[in-house]
Amino acid sequence: MAEQYILAIDQGTTSSRAVLVDHAGRIISSGQLEHEQILPRAGWVEHDPKEIWSAVRQAAAQALAVAEVNKEQVAAIGITNQRETAVVWDRTTGEPVYNAIVWQDTRTQRICDELAKDGGGKDRYKDVCGLPLATYFSGPKVHWILENVDGARKRAEAGDLLLGTIDSWLIWLMTDGVHVTDVTNASRTMLMDIRTRQWSEQICADLGIPLSMLPQIRSSSEVYAEGRRTGLLTGVPIASNLGDQHAAMVGQACFAKGDAKNTYGTGCFMLINTGSEPVVSDHGLLTTMCYQLGDEPPSYALEGSIAVTGSLIQWLRDNLGIISSAPEVEQLARTVDDNGGAYFVPAFSGLFAPYWRSDARGALVGLTRFVNKGHLARAALESTAYQTADVMSAMLADAQEGVTLTELKVDGGMTANDELMQFQADILDVPVIRPEVIETTALGAAYAAGLAVGFWSGKDEIRANWAEGRRWTPKMSASERDRLLGGWHKAVTKSFDWVDDAD
Ligand code: ADP
Repeated sequence: MAEQYILAIDQGTTSSRAVLVDHAGRIISSGQLEHEQILPRAGWVEHDPKEIWSAVRQAAAQALAVAEVNKEQVAAIGITNQRETAVVWDRTTGEPVYNAIVWQDTRTQRICDELAKDGGGKDRYKDVCGLPLATYFSGPKVHWILENVDGARKRAEAGDLLLGTIDSWLIWLMTDGVHVTDVTNASRTMLMDIRTRQWSEQICADLGIPLSMLPQIRSSSEVYAEGRRTGLLTGVPIASNLGDQHAAMVGQACFAKGDAKNTYGTGCFMLINTGSEPVVSDHGLLTTMCYQLGDEPPSYALEGSIAVTGSLIQWLRDNLGIISSAPEVEQLARTVDDNGGAYFVPAFSGLFAPYWRSDARGALVGLTRFVNKGHLARAALESTAYQTADVMSAMLADAQEGVTLTELKVDGGMTANDELMQFQADILDVPVIRPEVIETTALGAAYAAGLAVGFWSGKDEIRANWAEGRRWTPKMSASERDRLLGGWHKAVTKSFDWVDDAD
């Protein structure tokens, strides 16, 4: 029999990727297409759901063509996706009633403020869904569509419309109408009860979302359906579904309580596996599903999101012009021995976890005549490591007893930076480890799909496939670490109370 593979589809914010993964967990081919970022007004971000569907199909066809693999060799399809982005479509025609409203879109601020004012403040639903009221999540986005698109509410109430995050939209199209989501994606809508893993009728009612619109919530790893009769992958089981950061947890084999990974991209997303019970955060973190593999009990996670990390390096390049490409920041930082006393707090749009200060703005402090652009480059890089350390402390403070951090698994574009990764290990005082295959998101979707169809026998096989690519071991003295963190925490306070009207 010809060799079998798993096809993983990674539908991201800027592009759609498809990769073929072999039994050893290697990526043997890929296809990728970008899609348009539609920005109708300040703060609004939309995607065309039909363009995304077309990009996914083309990316999948490319991945198969490059490797000369036919559909009989695809044992299963796995899906991972940008989270929270919401689509509403007609259940008969499949026509979206509006563009997808993207996770970054802030048009629902007023809706969130009003819900908070009605009682309970921004943590009104936190005990149920694990999340604060925020524009980030899908529920308020769907509410906006139903209120603002002509006729949408009436059609929704008549049972003619469906809603979904991008995973549901894709699976519905791939299968000719199977309407499902998984626990991880559902945990980002603000509409799911995190304990029962069912839709919260109360929150849906408060947001005016008819229950008939909602997909069925399933585990992250099981056969939902097979590819539709007229499609590229007819009869191939669609067997996993995970939000991107959750897929990365699976791809990094973070299966034990206390296992954590941090993805360093435009911003940073750090998750720690908290085991079989949700942990409600007292330190500004989100309670979320980690994954649920088939019939196994689900795993939960705490998540800390940092808004500005890699994008600060882009800012040094585009706004200050002190580097001409992102990797150059490393050479510039190496021209000096330390930060020269300068600290950079990149609170460009306030601070996310664990501070959640929308009144904060960027601050560059500790400047003297001695400070030069090398120190600035260093301070910018260091800010990523300090912010990660703050999220990590919050995680350890929130997580139940018995959770300690012994190492941090990392991935994402910024992990190419050796100086940063060494500094990160020094500041956390734990080893920082990057796997051999850094496409952990696609890999996680592939693993979850492969587990569902017996392509891999269990988590042990996945753990065995995970191979260390590079390790950074802490070298800094405790006193130096304390001195630097002290400087950082002082700097953070200087960014507070800058704008009066946080909106
Ligand atoms: P995303 O998936 O969020 O688009 P990536 O994982 O592709 O992000 O990482 C890209 C980000 O990493 C960019 O913001 C870029 O500035 C930053 N970056 C890329 N290479 C380096 C580097 N060598 N040093 C520091 N930052 C880098």
